[in-house]
Parts: sequence; C-alpha cells; structure tokens
Amino acid sequence: MKIEADFPTGRVEVVDASDPGDIRLRVPADTGTDFLCWYNFRVTGPAGVLRRFTIENASDSLKLRLPNRENQAHQWLGAGPVASADGENWTRLAHHFDGRAFRFWHVPRHEVTHYAKFAPYPPEREAAFLDRCAAAPGVTREAIGQSTEGRRIEMLRLGSGPLNFWVIARQHPSETQGAFFLEGMLERLLTPDADARALLSAATLQVVPNVNPDGWMRGHTRANADGLNLNREWSADNPAPEVAAVRDAMERTGVDFCLDCHADNELEYVFAWASENVPAWTPARRQPFELFERNWAKANPDYIPGRAYPGGCPAEADLSMGWNWIGNRFPDSLSILLEQPFKDVQERPDPLTGWSPQRAHALGRAVVVPMAAEAARRSEP
Ligand SMILES: [Zn+2]
Repeated sequence: MKIEADFPTGRVEVVDASDPGDIRLRVPADTGTDFLCWYNFRVTGPAGVLRRFTIENASDSLKLRLPNRENQAHQWLGAGPVASADGENWTRLAHHFDGRAFRFWHVPRHEVTHYAKFAPYPPEREAAFLDRCAAAPGVTREAIGQSTEGRRIEMLRLGSGPLNFWVIARQHPSETQGAFFLEGMLERLLTPDADARALLSAATLQVVPNVNPDGWMRGHTRANADGLNLNREWSADNPAPEVAAVRDAMERTGVDFCLDCHADNELEYVFAWASENVPAWTPARRQPFELFERNWAKANPDYIPGRAYPGGCPAEADLSMGWNWIGNRFPDSLSILLEQPFKDVQERPDPLTGWSPQRAHALGRAVVVPMAAEAARRSEP
C-alpha cells in the first residue's frame, strides 16, 4: 500500500502504513506555526479491503480554538473526512474522535482513493477557470502583486458601473469552499441573467479568487509561506505581500462593497456578518446588511439570516482582520465576512456529502441577487 501527499495542496505524514487495518498518520502544522487541520492524500492499495486510519496528533489543533467557542463542538466532531475515487465526487466517511486521535475507516471500491478534510480545489482547475473567465467578453485579468514565493495574486475585473464591488477568497488556503463559491458566482456573471446584468451595469466588480496561493500549494491550513495568518495582517504598516497587494488595489479603486470568503471548522451553518464595532461603524449601516441577508435567503435556502456571531461579537473589532479593516477604511462600504461550514448543515442536511462543493457553488450563484440589490440601493438618486 502506498500513501502519497507530495503533490501540490497535499498534506499528511505517514507514521506507519504497513497494515491497512491500522494506518497511522500525523498532520504537520503549517510552516512556522501551530495551525493544523488540513489533510489531503492519495492511497493506492487493494480495493475491497478495509482501511482504518488514525490521525494521531489531531488534538494538537485544539490549542488554537477561537475565543468563546467552548459550547461549540470542535472541528474533529462532525467534520468528516471526504473520500473520492475521481477527485470530483466526494462523499463523507464515518469517523470518531477519542479526545486525542481522529479515526476514520473506509472500504474502497477502487485501488486509488483520495482522502481530505474537505474537497480540495486543484490548482489546475483554478488555472483553467481563470483562463476561461479571462477569455470571456468584458473581463480583464491582471496580477495585482506577487506572493511571498513569487506567485501571481490574480484579479479579475468585470462590469462597467461606477460602484466598486469586491469579492476576495482564500486568505486561509484550506477553505476551498470559497473557490467553489466563486465558480458559481462568476459562471452566473459570465452568462448574465437579469440580476447579473443589473449588477454589472451598476458596479465594477473586482474578484481576487486566491489571496494565498503559496499556502495552498504547500497544503497549509491557514498560513502563508512565512507562517503568517494573512487575516491578521491588514492593519500592519508593512503587511505580508499578499495582503499589501489587495489593500493597495482597494486603495486605488475605493470599496463600496466587499465580501471576504472564508470557511469555519466548527459551524453547522452558513454565516455572514457585517463589520460591526469598527470605529467607523454607525447603527445605520445595519439595515443594508439585513436587507442583503433577506435577499440572499430568498435566492438560496442555505442562507438563513439573523445568526448571532459565534461566541459573541467582540466589543472592539479587530482591525487586523480583512473585513473589519475594509469596513473601517471605507466607512460607507458594506463589508461582509462569509463563513461556510466544513461540517454538514443543521437545516437541509445531506448525510452522504455534507456541505459540499455543489452547495458552495449554488450559494455563490445565488449571491449575485443580494449584490445586485445592494448595487441598486446604492444607485438610487
Ligand atoms: Zn478563514
């Protein structure tokens, strides 16, 4: 039996794979950090033979939980691994966490099977999708900067309106939900219906699909190649080059609207939040966000408005986080944090796939509706 993770976005360390009934693994932390949760590897071995996997150091990740989450089930409870024979269709596996190690098991129908925390978004798929978008009429593509290791920070621009709308994703590379979401959103914008046309005539849309390409190629959970959590870099005088590139591009255009796409290991629902409690916040900014929520819910039942901030909204917003920094720097903007789940959702659960690339894609298609409504609201005389 062979276990491989030495491909881009792969992640796992083999302790012992001599017995398919007792495969012992570890998940290495992101370079220079204690962040760990993402795993992604390929197994070649006989079909029809039970494989039992143990990730021995799973509990190491629990040192770094977000504050006030004690009442929430942590990331190893209910966030099943997914398996795929073709890299396209991913299904959930049974699993168990014993307080220290994470175990799961599988009887594969094929010799080669992929296992991961959530469906990976292959770099070649990203490259092909960017090419397809850039070839569409009215779309421009540019590199707004370079990553720590010299990769392009890509930006797509579409639309012709005076408003400046932004969507960014993948500051945290393992949160691939954002990539599937953006495919859904951009596909709808490239073959526009009435909502898409309304958005693109009222606004110019800037999309940065992958803020952290180095982290993704390395198979990191949260950090860039220098071990920096990019979503804690925004208020720095000299931030990481990935954040500097996006921040500088936003300074050039201004921001009327921004959606920052993330995923949360612990939540069992889709969550969005406006940049409340930044110094520039005024209560009047709450209403446009609530309208945005209602319009999104009408367009897709997976968006349920009015969720409370998990663990309680901090009294003082952390301006080193992207969506807060944007909401403060551009006081008239609507700046929204989006968190998609890794776990299955409480409403409309799907035991076979859980929250999936398909659900993320549909959520992204739907977000065009509330964005178009927000653009229309801002365009009113
Ligand atoms: Zn994130």
